[in-house]
Amino acid sequence: MVESSNVPMFEIEDLHAVIEDKEILKGVNLTINQGEIHALMGPNGSGKSTLANILAGHPSYEVTEGSIRFWGEDILELSPDERARKGIFLAFQYPTVIPGVSMANFLRMAVTNTRNARAEEAAAKNGGGEAPKMAPREFRKLMREKMRLLKMDDSFASRYLNEGFSGGEKKRAEILQMALLEPTMAILDETDSGLDIDALRVVSEGVNNLAGPELGLLLITHYQRLLNYIKPDYVHIMMDGRIVQEGGPELAVELEQKGYEKLRAEYGAAV
Ligand code: ADP
Ligand code: MG
Repeated sequence: MVESSNVPMFEIEDLHAVIEDKEILKGVNLTINQGEIHALMGPNGSGKSTLANILAGHPSYEVTEGSIRFWGEDILELSPDERARKGIFLAFQYPTVIPGVSMANFLRMAVTNTRNARAEEAAAKNGGGEAPKMAPREFRKLMREKMRLLKMDDSFASRYLNEGFSGGEKKRAEILQMALLEPTMAILDETDSGLDIDALRVVSEGVNNLAGPELGLLLITHYQRLLNYIKPDYVHIMMDGRIVQEGGPELAVELEQKGYEKLRAEYGAAV
């Protein structure tokens, strides 16, 4: 879905945000084009998850200044659901447990809400006609295929969402959701946290399988180790609610050697 070559796919401009009267984001600028992988790194408490939540439309945060544009359209006023339907996907740092809803049912709802809605929109744009909806049988086949790719056991599909899932299983479930929704902009918040090395490898493989010329990816991570498996094109470092340094993959390596403490001193940042 290449719209216009001049408009960046995803553009965050001078974003300021507060929570409970405390300013957390103090002017964030970030542009992500289709096909690019960006890593956002930074110490704990610097505002990474706040940014991710705001991008997804979380209602607890108040944006006081700046804009977020997707294909040139300001999305700040859109609900999380509307953003998802446009093709924006967020994997949370702490996925929610939904007892009584199986993985398969949850995923089918999510797919119906986003992919089918998008197909309908496209059909309407092309002068009406029936939108090609995904049939239940087709969905199950696709789900199994993606599960195999992520080395998930078939029994996973019938388990309740995130209930009793290990850290690795939760992350795999998120990547499975992403694989089924086929977003154009994906934001992964600490997808590597709590993963042992094998799970990290599987999850990274899954993400690498999904990456490509259509997808813009924002990987949020505290540690450099995820970037050994998923190679970013750009690295941004956040401190105290601002991006203080930007560069290529070498910046992540440098940061790992230097540590956040030194960088913090350089920028006089509190967090
Ligand atoms: P990171 O993901 O980089 O570790 P966060 O975005 O989670 O950082 O947190 C940034 C700052 O915002 C922290 O000081 C944190 O305490 C504060 N914060 C985040 N969410 C909330 C919230 N829901 N209520 C109060 N403070 C919050
Ligand atoms: Mg966080």
